[in-house]
Amino acid sequence: MTRTPLMAGNWKSNLNHQEAVVLVQKLAWTLQDKKHDFARAEVVVIPPFTDLRSVQTLVDGDHLGLGYGAQDVSEHDGGAYTGEISAAMLAKLGCGYVVVGHSERREHHDESDQVVNTKAGRALAAGITPIVCVGEGLEVRRAGEHVAHTLAQVDGSLAGFTPEQVAGLVIAYEPVWAIGTGEVATPEDAQEVCEAIRGRVAETFSSEAAAAVRILYGGSVKAANVAAIMAKSDVDGALVGGASLQAEEFAGIARFY
Ligand code: PEP
Repeated sequence: MTRTPLMAGNWKSNLNHQEAVVLVQKLAWTLQDKKHDFARAEVVVIPPFTDLRSVQTLVDGDHLGLGYGAQDVSEHDGGAYTGEISAAMLAKLGCGYVVVGHSERREHHDESDQVVNTKAGRALAAGITPIVCVGEGLEVRRAGEHVAHTLAQVDGSLAGFTPEQVAGLVIAYEPVWAIGTGEVATPEDAQEVCEAIRGRVAETFSSEAAAAVRILYGGSVKAANVAAIMAKSDVDGALVGGASLQAEEFAGIARFY
């Protein structure tokens, strides 16, 4: 089973819709300049909601080859939920992906695995690929419980899905202590947990789902460290925060091969 690597850039709460257009144009030019082959690595930008329409117009209008997605989705189907953005709205905007359960949402918005599971289900029902984030904090890592902790999040976040649904989604292993800190996990750290996640998917769902599901590593990924991480057999790409705000750097990550 060959899994196409995925490089997804999570802009978080950065860049307005005009700045978004500038970054996407620079990214597209830089990738073109580097002769990036999109068959060797899919490249996806994940801007704030307010930028999505501008990004859609640019990406689709100019056939840039990039994908785009959202950073979150409502657990509700739509209706009387002020401030919420439904999966159907994102699908209508052409979003191919949505991040669910990012550690910043788990921490600052108290998102439980159950909420993450509901959001991922909404995305799947709307035809959007969820990028389901899991990963341990520093205390858990120091206690040596990172694998058990992360697998429990995988269990809760994917509960009730079919093997076919799991085969098509993306799981991002992001140790919280490595996010935005400059402290990148070693390639061996990343492989240890990504391999365990794939094993759990095989046990819970099917060996076909395990062979197909893409598992990303996230946490201070840069152009300079991505190749070593991507050399690990169970790492299928990266979820990138800070470095995705710089076109040259993110293009360098995408062009890891
Ligand atoms: C993230 O926010 O998902 C992330 C991995 O951030 P950074 O790359 O900045 O560590």
